[in-house]
This record gives sequence, structure tokens and C-alpha cells, in this order.
Amino acid sequence: MTSPISTRRHGDVLIILSNNPPVNALSTSVRQGLVDAIAEAEGDDAVKAVVIACEGQTFFAGADITEFGKPPQQPWLPVVVDTIENCSKPVVAAIHGTALGGGLEVALGCHYRVADKSAKLGTPEVKLGLLPGAGGTQRLPRVAGVRKALEMCATGNPIGAKDAFDCGLVDRLVEGELIPHAVAYAEEVRDIRPLAKSSERQDRMADSAPGIFDEFRTANAKKFRGFEAPLKNIEAVEVATQKPFAEGVIEERKLFMELMSGEQSAAQRYFFFAERKASKIEGLPENTEPRPIHKVGVIGAGTMGGGIAMNFLSAGIPVTIVEMGPEALDRGAGVMRKNYEASAARGKLTAEQVERAMGQLSPTLDFAALADCDLVIEAVYENMDVKKDVFARLDKIAKPGAILASNTSYLDVDEIAASISRPADVLGMHFFSPANIMKLLEIVRGAKTAPDVLLTAMGIAKKIRKVAVVAGVCHGFIGNRMLMPRQIEATKLLLEGATPEQIDRVHVEFGMPMGPFQMADLAGVDIGWHRDPTRVETIRDQLCAMERWGQKKGAGFYDYDEKRRPSPSPVVQQVIEDFASKQSVQRREISDQEIVERTLYTMVNEGAKILEEGIAQRASDIDVVWVYGYGWPVYRGGPMYWADSVGLAKIVEGLKGQEERMKPAFSFSQLLLDKAAKGESFTR
Ligand code: NAD
Repeated sequence: MTSPISTRRHGDVLIILSNNPPVNALSTSVRQGLVDAIAEAEGDDAVKAVVIACEGQTFFAGADITEFGKPPQQPWLPVVVDTIENCSKPVVAAIHGTALGGGLEVALGCHYRVADKSAKLGTPEVKLGLLPGAGGTQRLPRVAGVRKALEMCATGNPIGAKDAFDCGLVDRLVEGELIPHAVAYAEEVRDIRPLAKSSERQDRMADSAPGIFDEFRTANAKKFRGFEAPLKNIEAVEVATQKPFAEGVIEERKLFMELMSGEQSAAQRYFFFAERKASKIEGLPENTEPRPIHKVGVIGAGTMGGGIAMNFLSAGIPVTIVEMGPEALDRGAGVMRKNYEASAARGKLTAEQVERAMGQLSPTLDFAALADCDLVIEAVYENMDVKKDVFARLDKIAKPGAILASNTSYLDVDEIAASISRPADVLGMHFFSPANIMKLLEIVRGAKTAPDVLLTAMGIAKKIRKVAVVAGVCHGFIGNRMLMPRQIEATKLLLEGATPEQIDRVHVEFGMPMGPFQMADLAGVDIGWHRDPTRVETIRDQLCAMERWGQKKGAGFYDYDEKRRPSPSPVVQQVIEDFASKQSVQRREISDQEIVERTLYTMVNEGAKILEEGIAQRASDIDVVWVYGYGWPVYRGGPMYWADSVGLAKIVEGLKGQEERMKPAFSFSQLLLDKAAKGESFTR
């Protein structure tokens, strides 16, 4: 096999070139090739300086993920990086595309870094529950400064080349051809001694003001809540400020191994692959080709329609948005503009980008304007008759081959499809609120949905940077369906003696962003309410009748002050107790464990049903839905992965213990029972 690493000479500079498509991952052969090439430079007196560069779309973009989970092969990355740094001739990294993870560590092993202006540099290891383990946490603060290193390592977010230049991580920014510039730079520095070894530098450590680490931990406490890896990254960077490099790397290795062998990183690495797998559609004929999408239509400019439209506009795809009246249309377009301008105010977009996006929007009251759209997404009221009426009109005017999608949360996509003349063109595209921000998109495959329609929807999801998961038709698809048993049991637990605060606390301590009642207050307690204040059958009906509709009314399951800070509500407590006595429910002390079993174990059970009914293609898809759609803590992998960690036998035992109390709403998933009995799991 030929090595992905080749060398060539330009004058007295040795150019080491990697060609390992698609992203120049640091596979074993690349690592070996780098070590060999440095030896070649050492052994040749005519070589006075070295440039390390990559062919193709990017500099080394990280580790080779196909080597994950296998026994590590030599030479290990730390050795490669040390070898580069110990070269007796100056080594210059020529960075384009992305220098990420191990790629950045290689660049840090070099004595200088030259980067294309559009390059990005980062240490995303924390997102896999790890830290840069080849000396990265020790070299980065010495080169880029402590504050920058802290931010990069603990958040995993990459920085742009300009930012990298400003903090000293990059020595020269280049526009135009990178390698000739890097060679010229190497010529400039070829005689400078001593060599600027990252591991020996102290000049950038000055900004390690006392307290910087504690301040950083406090400032990011919310973001890092529950995660181990950010804290270990911070600790490792702190070590760099306290100990010489040789001791620092030993400490770094220890922290790395703790993370690597821990449960969180295992879950995060699992999730990384789960997300990639989600885009694969089972059972698609091999020759399926996507339909071209040049123009998108959105019907309804309400909460969802506006956000949905923004996704396409941001991706440069023109959108026609249709409403029923001028007021709703203006309001919808106004909200979109306001959202874009808020992003611009935060520096995320330029004013020009805002105008470009809004310039691609055609708001109209004329349904016929949808005639030239390749994809139309309906986001009108959640009502079957209204949806059927909209689809009937679409059927008449949409061009042949146009894809007709519904954003329904619960309605039967097959029934909608069957009501028109082209059911094969229909599918669900279920966005999550706020639709311009939430990453998840459930693509609902109807019984008649054509393979190319499905494939197109998955492709367009990627284009608008969503994580798409295929779901089958059922009430609530994957995500909302699993919410239902949780909601039922959470409400019953209130009657039996738990408080909204206790139930929410258990969920937040578990790692969810909020509990079921906090979520209800945020989304609106009145969502789906029948709107008849005299008809009071549930606690929720009662709260709605009292106009306790949640945060927007300053009262819901909690009371809110003017800053929307919640406090337990004596009124709600009274409502709960009155209901309990009316229904003769015996009130008792509820343990946190019971809450876990009745709200989280039941979700796992529902997930298992979703799997056995073929609604989800695979267990890991369910996990993707919950992490991206509802904020399930990624360090627990997702509900199905988490169930495997707990042990399915234990889940079944817990559910059996609660079965009597949960009847008749609850019934066991046969798949869960079978797997538990056989000692099997869902995700491993
Ligand atoms: P919304 O009430 O905010 O907006 C619906 C809009 O559709 C209104 O502006 C209305 O004027 C317009 N509309 C109604 N009939 C129309 C017609 N015939 N032609 C053109 N416009 C029409 O509702 P929403 O929250 O945006 O929900 C829309 C859909 O998205 C529903 O099916 C809902 O279940 C689903 N959904 C909502 C959420 C959420 O959190 N709000 C999340 C996912 C999916």
C-alpha cells in the first residue's frame, strides 16, 4: 500500500504532503508517514526547513473515526507530535480547511503555523467527552494564551483563522496559494534558533490571572451542568499553568484516561455514530435519485411556518410564504426579520446577510403563487379538516413532482395523503419549535411516500443543517409519542402526592433542561386545550379555566414574578389536592426513584414499542430524537442507550413494581420484556 504521506523538495525546504481523503484523518498510515518524513528531513543535510501540508479539502481534520474502539496502533499521536516538535529544523504547518482535534495537535507540534484566511482551528474532543490527549491541553495555552485555550478546550467550538492569528495560534495569515506562502515563511525562519517549541514557551502564559479558572467555571456552570469533560479540560489547562510540560502531559494523560474509560464519553461517542447512522434510510432502492429543490413554499406564517421558512432562506433557497390575511402575513414576516436582526445584533450574521435572506422571501396571500415550488411545507392549524382543505388546494395548483409536506405534530399523514390524487408525493416534515433553531427534524414516511420523496427530504434536511430522523406514521411519531406516557404518569403522580417542583427537580437532576411542568409552562399549558372553561376534567383543564396558561400569563404550574422567575404555587397545590380528594386518590410520600420509574422507564417502554412497530428504524434514531428534540443529556446517550446502561432487566423490574398504579394507561412492550429476559440490549 502506498503511504498517504509523500515528500518533495522546494529549494532547501522539505514539503511533507498528506493525501488521505476525504478529510486527511490521522490514520495509522498517516501518523507513520509523518514520523518517517520527519526522519527524512533530519537525515538530509540539504534540508533546512520543513512544511507540513495537506492536499484536498482540509488540513488534518482529526482522528480516524474508523479506528475508534480498536486497540491503538503505533506510532501514537503524542509520539508523532513530539517527533515533529523535536525536529532540529524548523517545521511550519500550512493549514487550510479545518485543523481539528489531533490535526490541531499536529499543528501545535510544528514550530510555526501559517493558515489560509478561511481556515478553522479547534479542539472538539470535549464533544466526545474527551480532551486533546496528545499534549494539546499543555501546548495550546502556551501558544494561544490561557483564556483562549480554556474556551477552545472546554467548549470544543472552533475559532476562525483571524481569531487564531490575533491570539498567536497562527503566525501568518495567507490569501491565495497556501503552500508557496508556507515555503516562503519556512525560508524566512530557517535560521532562527532556538526553535520555537510550543511545549517550552512561556511567553503566552502571562494572562493566567489568578482566579481565571474559577471564574470560567462559574461563568459556564449552566452550560457545563452534568458534563464531566469540560471540567477535566479546564483542569488540564490549569495544570499547564502550574507545572512544566513534561509533568503536565502525564497529568493530561491521566485525565484523558479517566474520561476515556468513563460512562459519559462512551455515551457521547456512541451518540456521535448514532447521529451519522440516522441519515441512512432503510429499504431504499439503490438507484433512487433525489428530486431537485430550487424553491420552497410554506403555508402558514405562524409560530412554526416563519421558523421553517427561515431555515431555507438561510441556506439560500427562495421561499414563498402564504397566509390567510394581510395581518398574519405581515406579523409572520415581521417576526422573521426581527429574529434575523437579533442574530445580526449578536454578531452571528452581517446586515447584508439579513437582507439577502429576507430578499429571498416572497410573502403572499395568493395560494397560486405556490405553483412553481418544488417542495411545499404546510404549517397551518393542527386540525385534520383544515389540513385536508389545504392539501386539496395544493393538489390542484402544485406542479407535477412537487413534494407536499405537512408539519403536523400528531395527525395521520397517511390520511392526509389519501385525501389527494398524489399520495406518493406526501410526507411529514415535523420541525421542532423554535423551528429556525432546533436541530431535529422528524421525516415522517407515509405508507405511500415514494422513495425519492423520502430521499429528497433527507437531503434537504442536511442542506438546512438539520439532523433528520425517519419516523413512521403514528400518533406523535417518535418524540411526542414518548412524551405521552411521561405526561400521563407525571400528572398521576401529582394526584398521588408529588409536587410539580419535585417531579421537575428529578428530571433536571437527571440532566434534562427542564421537567414536564416547567416545559408545560414554557410551551403554554393551554396548548391543545378544548377552550371551554366550564368543562373541567383534569388538573390542566382547571389551570386553563383559571387562565393559568404558563409563563406568558405569569402563572401556570408555577407562579412567576416580573422577571419570569418561578416559585411553587399554593393555588396549584390546592387544585391538585382538591382533585385528589374528588377522585378519592390516596395521597402519600412519593420517592424520587418512583418518579424515575414512572416517567423515564415508561418512556423507554414506549421507545421499545416504537421500535417493535417499526416506527423508528433503529434504537439509536430514538436517541437522536431525544437528544436533539428535547435536550436529553447527551452524556447519557439517549433514552434507549441509557436503558441499556441501567440494564433492561432492572427497567422491567422497576416497571413491574409500578404496573398496578399505572394501569390501564400502561402496557408492556413485548420487545422490552423479551430483550430483558434474554439479557439483550437495544444499542450495543
Ligand atoms: P400557529 O397558530 O402559530 O400558526 C398557524 C398559522 O397558519 C396561522 O398564522 C394561520 O393564520 C395560518 N393558517 C391557517 N390556515 C391557513 C390556510 N388555509 N392558509 C394559509 N395560512 C393558514 O400554529 P403553529 O404553532 O405554527 O403550528 C402549525 C403546525 O405546526 C401545526 O400542525 C402544529 O401541530 C405543528 N407544530 C407546532 C409546534 C409548536 O411547538 N408550535 C411544533 C411542531 C409542530
